Amino acid sequence: MARRKKIYEGKAKILYEGPEPGTIVQYFKDDATAFNAEKKDVIDGKGVLNNRLSEFFMTGLNQIGVPTHFIRRLNMREQLVRNCEIVPLEVIVRNYAAGTMSKRLGIAEGTQLPRPIVEYCYKDDALGDPLVTEEHIAAFGWASQQDMDDILSLALRVNDFMSGMMLAVGIRLVDFKIEIGRVFDGDFQRLIVADEISPDSCRLWDIETGQKLDKDVFRRDLGSLTDAYSEVARRLGVLPKSNVAKPTLIN
Ligand code: 5GP
Repeated sequence: MARRKKIYEGKAKILYEGPEPGTIVQYFKDDATAFNAEKKDVIDGKGVLNNRLSEFFMTGLNQIGVPTHFIRRLNMREQLVRNCEIVPLEVIVRNYAAGTMSKRLGIAEGTQLPRPIVEYCYKDDALGDPLVTEEHIAAFGWASQQDMDDILSLALRVNDFMSGMMLAVGIRLVDFKIEIGRVFDGDFQRLIVADEISPDSCRLWDIETGQKLDKDVFRRDLGSLTDAYSEVARRLGVLPKSNVAKPTLIN
């Protein structure tokens, strides 16, 4: 069997050269990390769930005209995506205070924000992905003003879509992180949603009980991460009901 070329291995995913030019195979690992990889574990089935959930969200976004890198799912753990140049920013949208915003500003977790707040962090593990302003982004040339206008608009569209999708199944979208990629169509550059959208990169709370259904379950030792992610998948109709307890068996 021909060996394929690994392009990059991150904390939760591996990227391989794709079968056609301009494509990449994105493999979802079971590894979970938090606090800049200080806390690590292998969570059976997490990669399968995130592959499915990211497919579900990205397909929905593509359908409403929000461009993403997603092309098609290949198997349980892999999806084919467009190769793109990742803008070195984590784009965070917050609807309710939580996590680092609560710590930084002393706002109680769960406080509804007056409007969605978009933050940018510079993608650099060694620095712990520090919060940056648009001034830094412009001065260091990480993105142009036109890019920033497009990124803000993409982030808010993703927020509206994801908030509505979650609300429909009794889940509050507290906040999330997306990454943005540049693709070139001839001479024109376009920005698209890249990386993944999954409970690894969102905060999702049950509207009735406040139960956490996202990576904070792992970060804060609140129980089984696959149970939480399976519950999100089950409510969204992403997992066949008979396989809810055994996500690794889904093809
Ligand atoms: P916070 O800044 O409160 O830690 O995170 C805000 C939101 O962005 C949360 O939903 C969190 O999961 C997501 N997020 C922030 N940084 C990262 C990251 O490096 N990786 C992932 N997967 N999500 C992140």
